[in-house]
Amino acid sequence: MRKFSDNRLVVATHNAGKLAEIRELLNGFDVAVTSCAELGLAEPQETEDNFIGNARIKAHAAAQASGLVALADDSGICVDGLGGAPGVYTADWAETPTGRDFTMAMERTWRELEAISAPYPRTAQFRCTLVMAWPDGHDEVFEGVMPGSVIWPMRGDLGHGYDPIFQPDGHERTFAEIPADEKNLISHRADAFRKLVAGCFT
Ligand code: IMP
Repeated sequence: MRKFSDNRLVVATHNAGKLAEIRELLNGFDVAVTSCAELGLAEPQETEDNFIGNARIKAHAAAQASGLVALADDSGICVDGLGGAPGVYTADWAETPTGRDFTMAMERTWRELEAISAPYPRTAQFRCTLVMAWPDGHDEVFEGVMPGSVIWPMRGDLGHGYDPIFQPDGHERTFAEIPADEKNLISHRADAFRKLVAGCFT
């Protein structure tokens, strides 16, 4: 496992929220965190059909273009009854001509489960893949998972994305009913970050 030994890191994202979250997570380490948006770097096309492939594309493109070590993430919800869909297309299911509509995406998820009379519990996982890529082409991959099930009707108004229809295993509340500080300790992203920090930062 290669350790991170530089003092600058570029996060392969144009999402200010994601950048802020990653800065916060790496707060205790002696590293200045910038992003592709701040460096004016283009976003590559995510052409792979799996999280690792797409995170690798983003991380290597950022490392090559910046000459810095780069960190990329790719995440989504995989519903077992739908063969793992929406998976890498999690955000795409919410796309409309006027922006993302996650209520529409959650309705589609439930409608497709109903259409095949999927058995209960309607199990699913949130997955998060993190890739650290070095300018010399080396990379390290970390995967985080939060198992749970898809429920209906939607419950809760916290969080984002598909949170209102996802009930994590061992909890009575959906992700949208769990406050952010608590969700950030148990989520797929927290799981992946713990592995990243243990692997590359300590
Ligand atoms: P990306 O990794 O930025 O491409 O995002 C993938 C999509 O997965 C997001 O747009 C969200 O809809 C969804 N997603 C990822 N993590 C979560 C989560 O913790 N809660 C709800 N939705 C999520």
